[in-house]
Amino acid sequence: MASLFLQNGAGPERSLEDRYPPCTGNFRARSVIRFCRDSTRTRFVETLHYPQDEEKEVADCIFCKIAGGEIPCAKIHENERVLSFLDIGPINPGHALVIPKKHSATILEMDPADLEACIVLCQKVARAVLKATGAPGLNLLQNNFRAAGQLVDHAHFHLIPRLEQDDFLRSWPAKSYSPGQLDQMLEKVRAAF
Ligand code: 5GP
Ligand code: ZN
Repeated sequence: MASLFLQNGAGPERSLEDRYPPCTGNFRARSVIRFCRDSTRTRFVETLHYPQDEEKEVADCIFCKIAGGEIPCAKIHENERVLSFLDIGPINPGHALVIPKKHSATILEMDPADLEACIVLCQKVARAVLKATGAPGLNLLQNNFRAAGQLVDHAHFHLIPRLEQDDFLRSWPAKSYSPGQLDQMLEKVRAAF
């Protein structure tokens, strides 16, 4: 499981390699977000990657258990690749999830064919949820890693019916780029693509 480290003092206490040996073999890199705290504030330092035992991750995975029929769910639809069911803790009634049956911790490692199947099913479930609830809006949401609010480490898509007066995602704190910053960022993202 990814976790959050709050570290006292400004600098790293031990080398990162010391704490998190490089990934090998069947191990998968997972994210750790590290913060430093000085007297005035807590600041983000970096996202690290550390090895995770994939077999254990799958064995402990609640959505793998749901996909395998080991744990029941309020199933909407399934095919050989994907499954959709109602979220047990809905933002609004009708909140549904779409998951690949094959385990993948985040969208980043997903098999493209599963990803395609998920998006196609998302569209169908979105239509059904809108029709069934009569909601005037819907968000398709997909969280990756703790920093983005992911709590279940099996990739999934939220279909959230929205009401005019609900209390979800009402703030969208848009920022702006200073001169030159957008071009710099574009260059970095293109280089990483
Ligand atoms: P995340 O924060 O990881 O994007 O969202 C995980 C979602 O899975 C949450 O909305 C939570 O309510 C839902 N969830 C967690 N465990 C279960 C479960 O056992 N059954 C169902 N149906 N939903 C679950
Ligand atoms: Zn899983």
